[in-house]
Amino acid sequence: MVDTRRRFFLRSAAKERVQPMPWIAGWQQFTSGCTRCGDCVRACEEKIIAVGDGGFPTVDFTKGECTFCYACAESCPEGLFQPETSTPWQQHVAIGDACLAKKGVECRSCSDACEMGAIKFQLQLGKVAQPVITVSDCTGCGACVSPCPVNAIAIERIGHE
Ligand code: SF4
Ligand code: SF4
Ligand code: SF4
Repeated sequence: MVDTRRRFFLRSAAKERVQPMPWIAGWQQFTSGCTRCGDCVRACEEKIIAVGDGGFPTVDFTKGECTFCYACAESCPEGLFQPETSTPWQQHVAIGDACLAKKGVECRSCSDACEMGAIKFQLQLGKVAQPVITVSDCTGCGACVSPCPVNAIAIERIGHE
């Protein structure tokens, strides 16, 4: 009983803070099947998979970006990941108020890091150029997260449990 309660707590707590792995059906379903073996952690050449709350693997974009190589999914002996042909996740970038450009300081680090061109800067009267996100072009790869000097970038998830 204690273990069940603990697992529930860990799942609930982790749900609030974690960036789930790509190609999983949902956090609750994932944590029900994941044995925390660490195979996916070792499989990621980008070294962005961290051992999160409760020992479950999560993605840490402060360490780098997801290249969607599918190695984590292929390594999982539990078969917890969906086919490579499906959408890896429903998420996109969001830029918070700490953004230097929003505070009048010239900075385009996020845009420079984005190969998809999902963040563009537009000149505005009386301001430095401001970031504009094209959500439909954002893959949620996280490449723009670590280059931001003031940690203003978050990845917002849509539709995850
Ligand atoms: S898809 Fe590749 S880069 Fe992304 S988390 Fe999995 S192993 Fe790492
Ligand atoms: S390989 Fe599968 S079972 Fe092992 S830690 Fe990763 S997701 Fe969990
Ligand atoms: S998450 Fe990836 S695709 Fe989206 S804006 Fe950042 S770098 Fe570009």
